[in-house]
Amino acid sequence: MIEVVDISRTYTIGESPVRALDGVSLRIEQGEFVAIMGASGSGKSTLMHILGLLDVPDSGAYCLMGKEVGKLNDDELATLRNNVAGFVFQQFHLLGRMSTIDNVMLPCIYSDEQGDFRADALKRLDMVGLGHRAGHRPNQMSGGEQQRVAIARALIRDPMIIFADEPTGNLDTKNSHEIMRILTELHRQGKTIIMVTHEHDIADYAGRVITMKDGKIIEDRKKEGMEFRPGAKPDGMQIAHQPLFNPSRMLGFMKQAFRSITSNKIRTLLSVLGILVGVASVIAMMALGAGAKASMEARLKSMGSNLLSIRGGSARIGGAAQGSGTFTRFTAQDAAAIAELKPLVSYVSGDVTGAAQMVWFDKNTNSSVEGVDYDYARMRDATPAIGRWFTREEIQSRRKVAIVGTTVVSELFGNEDPVGKTIKINRINFTIIGVAPPKGFAGHRDQDDVALIPVTTAMYRVLGKEYYDNIFVEVSSAANIEPAKQAIDALIRKRHKIQPDDDDSFNIRDMTEFQQMLSSTTQTMSMLLGSIAAISLVVGGIGIMNIMLVSVTERTREIGLRKAIGARKGDIMLQFLIESVGMTLSGGLIGIVVGVGVSMMLSTFAGWAVKTSMFSVLLASGFSVLIGLFFGLWPARKAAMLKPVEALRFE
Ligand code: ADP
Ligand code: MG
Repeated sequence: MIEVVDISRTYTIGESPVRALDGVSLRIEQGEFVAIMGASGSGKSTLMHILGLLDVPDSGAYCLMGKEVGKLNDDELATLRNNVAGFVFQQFHLLGRMSTIDNVMLPCIYSDEQGDFRADALKRLDMVGLGHRAGHRPNQMSGGEQQRVAIARALIRDPMIIFADEPTGNLDTKNSHEIMRILTELHRQGKTIIMVTHEHDIADYAGRVITMKDGKIIEDRKKEGMEFRPGAKPDGMQIAHQPLFNPSRMLGFMKQAFRSITSNKIRTLLSVLGILVGVASVIAMMALGAGAKASMEARLKSMGSNLLSIRGGSARIGGAAQGSGTFTRFTAQDAAAIAELKPLVSYVSGDVTGAAQMVWFDKNTNSSVEGVDYDYARMRDATPAIGRWFTREEIQSRRKVAIVGTTVVSELFGNEDPVGKTIKINRINFTIIGVAPPKGFAGHRDQDDVALIPVTTAMYRVLGKEYYDNIFVEVSSAANIEPAKQAIDALIRKRHKIQPDDDDSFNIRDMTEFQQMLSSTTQTMSMLLGSIAAISLVVGGIGIMNIMLVSVTERTREIGLRKAIGARKGDIMLQFLIESVGMTLSGGLIGIVVGVGVSMMLSTFAGWAVKTSMFSVLLASGFSVLIGLFFGLWPARKAAMLKPVEALRFE
């Protein structure tokens, strides 16, 4: 069954090589109970590890059940460890996070069999007399009990060979003999048992005692009267190639990842903080961006379509204002002249704005006042839903009538109907004739915190202005915007006698410019938030990588144990990747909640326009998964590459 010929193993510590095994040849038949004895450092464990496929010899041949071990790759060795060998170690190597029964079942997730192994595991626990402690944690048990659990674990895959390295080394005499009784019983049932010990009374249980010294076998003695029972001939066995991804295995890995993530909540939370902040800012950024875009569109719509805005001012060269000749300001006559440019122009409205204090009895509010012309209602969708618009007569004769925005209404009147009431605007009495339709926010400016009054009244009675601040022009169609701009430019130059080679001392803007201006501010904001998000995601990813590296180091012995019971490189890698993705994803999910919360707070308390979208949530989750994969890859690879023996020896 087992045949090694002339195997050697040399360790190099610093400069000096240690020959742990020196030309060992050995044959062990199926059904034997072999004890390997010898002084400490004589190479017993080294031999055992090689026989148990945890280590490979530097030279010599090893043939296990007719297979040349030297020709097998890592995954095939892992599969053999899972199917053929069961290990019992001096230090038990139980995983403290899991219950007893989960420890016993652990090798099953690395097998190609699927299903529920609970019943099986319970049977093995019963066999070692611990069926009643299935739910306990290893640290709630005595050493003897822990070693019995380890034996149950070694048996779960029904291996043909049990390898036990000083199984009683950490136990008292009574427990030692209990363990030996169990091993003897297993031998009686047909298992091949290979055990390392340095105690004679323990070796006495075996039918064959091999003694080692300085890496060589110095004695090989079979006991009289201890027959071994050959079992079924296992030679020529097949090594099944199991797929890495199977549902029950993935589920098992996920459960374990969940356990390991939740077993250290504070640490997990701290390490996913970066991801959390990153994801939250992605969500908030996209919500703000979408909200700003929506409010911009709404604002553009409320401004009317095909709108031009003409502003006067002085021409500037190199930042210095020029002489008075280059100063252009507009009057009602200019507006009237522009209105004559039919059919390019449909409507024209002169406009002035200013700040105003409005008072109604004991209530007052500081708002803005806007003087408007008759056609403003049509151009800017401002026809009141409650009350009425100004008449042409009212505008011509500078009447003191006002149409108030909804914010002013709620500031001054609460739930009362304002129409017909008289308020003071900058200490002048105005009669309210209507309520303007709500327009919402434009950036930070509340467009409903305004009172509209006739432009004449505003200029001559309230604000004391002789010129328009602005002339709004509605062009008859989108196609006419450019021709209209040119015609208006020519008209103004003519009327104000601006020389052709003079710079414009006024400007005509259409909404595309306005749109560009608005979107460039939102873009700046998005980029700012976007870079915060990107930086936190990278920093968060590095945090995850760091904690995963720590975790790999902390759990080196666990990884060694997992490899000993049959985990392949891919399994270990997958387990750690699932863990890091689990961490980043949970950080991401909390981040989504925080991001949505922050967006909602910005909208309720700061009055910003926000709009969270499903897309941003999916994007953020996708990103956190990718970061988990990317930054988990290296630690996972590091874990997967560990050599089983070295990992098990790790202190
Ligand atoms: P035993 O189990 O009989 O006490 P081992 O097989 O563990 O002995 O070790 C045999 C020799 O090999 C010892 O001298 C030990 O110091 C050395 N040795 C074992 N493992 C290593 C290792 N990983 N690195 C260096 N030397 C080692
Ligand atoms: Mg040893």
